[in-house]
Order: sequence, then structure tokens, then C-alpha cells
Amino acid sequence: MSTNNWLEGRHALVTGGGTGIGASAATHLHSAGAKVSLLGRRLGPLERTAAIVSGSVHQCDVTDRAAIEQAFAAARAANGPIEMLIVNAGIAESAPFAKMTRDSWDRIIAVNLTAAFESVQAALPDLLASENGRLVFVASVASLRGVPYAAHYAASKHGLLGLMRSLAAEYAKTKLTVNAVCPGYVDTPMTDQSVARVSQITGRSEEQARGAITNMNASGRLVDPDGIGTMILTLCLPKSRDINGAAVTIDGGTSA
Ligand code: NDP
Repeated sequence: MSTNNWLEGRHALVTGGGTGIGASAATHLHSAGAKVSLLGRRLGPLERTAAIVSGSVHQCDVTDRAAIEQAFAAARAANGPIEMLIVNAGIAESAPFAKMTRDSWDRIIAVNLTAAFESVQAALPDLLASENGRLVFVASVASLRGVPYAAHYAASKHGLLGLMRSLAAEYAKTKLTVNAVCPGYVDTPMTDQSVARVSQITGRSEEQARGAITNMNASGRLVDPDGIGTMILTLCLPKSRDINGAAVTIDGGTSA
């Protein structure tokens, strides 16, 4: 078997797979031969990425358990059992803690943490039945340290690592591995939205706001989503079977 088709014929499902990090993960998994299912709420981005990775598209709001069950069943019908699950869908908001609303807290926890629980439960029998089951969470440097003005986001991403480590420990004797990637600020639509928010709140230009966010990474540059897709692919390879319970930082040295 050539080094290019390590995942030939195996099915990877990516939540939030239409854009940013999810689209990069889908592209890399496809390049190694995987069949890819893409989940998200907006059809446009999903279809654009699906055209690149010959993937199947499943419109789904991951805060709705019934919708997850339905989308995963359709993905299975299209591509077979889910052997790799990339839990990537996420949202970010910001507010000073004293002004943070309960609605905002609930939105962030629902998408970034509770939906991860629901997605894993929906795929777990498939993941455990596979010879090389792989579960990868897209966490954050906000999983490792506090973030001013984003306490809810940091709490959700800390929770995601707790979930990852617990599952890695609980299933350590099986063929399933459970890991997370922890990116710094990445060049994706989510960061574009953060730039727009900072610019609006502070009155700074978009260029200044982007500069301020970029400088939060120790490298002084935004992380390339391609590098995250590459790491997710690596974690999914059969040869990575002994990488379990790892939180891999991809942040240009920010948390060094
Ligand atoms: P994007 O905004 O491009 O990606 C987020 C994806 O999640 C979108 O495709 C979106 O699709 C999907 N999504 C959001 N809410 C839902 C929902 N309720 N149901 C289904 N899908 C949903 O940004 P990124 O690629 O940057 O974000 C991907 C992940 O990376 C997130 O978990 C984020 O927290 C994490 N991350 C990002 C960093 C960054 O700097 N950008 C840094 C560290 C971590 P749609 O809106 O169509 O549903």
C-alpha cells in the first residue's frame, strides 16, 4: 500500500466540516483515501468543501440530538460505519464576565461541549467496532489557560479536554484512540469574526484588530489551518494507535 492511501475506503465524519479547520481536516483525510462526511448548518460551505473531497453533505445542527442521530445514520448509509470522528464544530463569543448573559453561556456550552458529548455517543458503537477507531476533538489553547472576555469559551474548551482525557482512559484497552488538538488563533472565518467584534467594540480599524489578535500568538502570525488538518490526519493513521489522551498544541509556541 502506498503512503498516500493509509485510510483507503475508511469513513471519517467531520462536524463543522464545511469551513476552516474542519474543511482542512476533511481535505487531508480525503488525500489519504478516506471517505468523508461533512456536517454543518449551512449547505453552501458544506457543498463547496464536498466538491473538493468527493464527500457527502449532511445538514445538521449539532445542538439537536435527534438531528445528529439522523445525520449520522445518513452518513453511515453513504459511506459505511464511522471509523473516525472529528468533533470540530464550535462557536466563539466574547463579553466581560460581569456582562456575560446566561443565553450566551448556554449557546457556547451547547455547541462546544454538550454537542461533543452527543456526537461521540452517536458514533461510539461504530468507533469501538473499528480495527482503528479514531476520535479527535478540536479544542484550543483556551483549553489550557484562561481567556479574558471569553470565560464561557474557555470553560467549554477546558471541558472538552476533560471529556477527551476521560474517554482516552476509559477506552484505553480498546482499539479506539481519543486525542485533541489545541490551536492558537487560526486563519479561519472564526478569527475573522473575532477581528470584526474587536474592531466594533474598541473602535480600532480591522487591520489594527487583526494585528492585536495575531500578536496573541507567540509566533506573531496566525496558525495555518493546513497544519491542523495535517495533525488530525496523523492522529487518525493506523500507525498512531499508541497516541492516546494527547492534547497537541498547535499555537506557534504560545503555551510553551
Ligand atoms: P469556523 O467558524 O470556520 O468553523 C466552525 C464550524 O462549526 C463551521 O463550519 C460551522 O458551520 C460549524 N458549526 C457551528 N455551530 C454549529 C452547529 N450548531 N451545528 C453544526 N455545525 C456548527 O472556524 P474554525 O475552523 O476556526 O473553528 C473550528 C473549531 O476550531 C472550533 O471548535 C473552534 O472553537 C476551534 N478553534 C478555533 C480557533 C481559531 O482561532 N479560529 C482556535 C482554537 C480552536 P455552520 O455555521 O454552517 O453550522
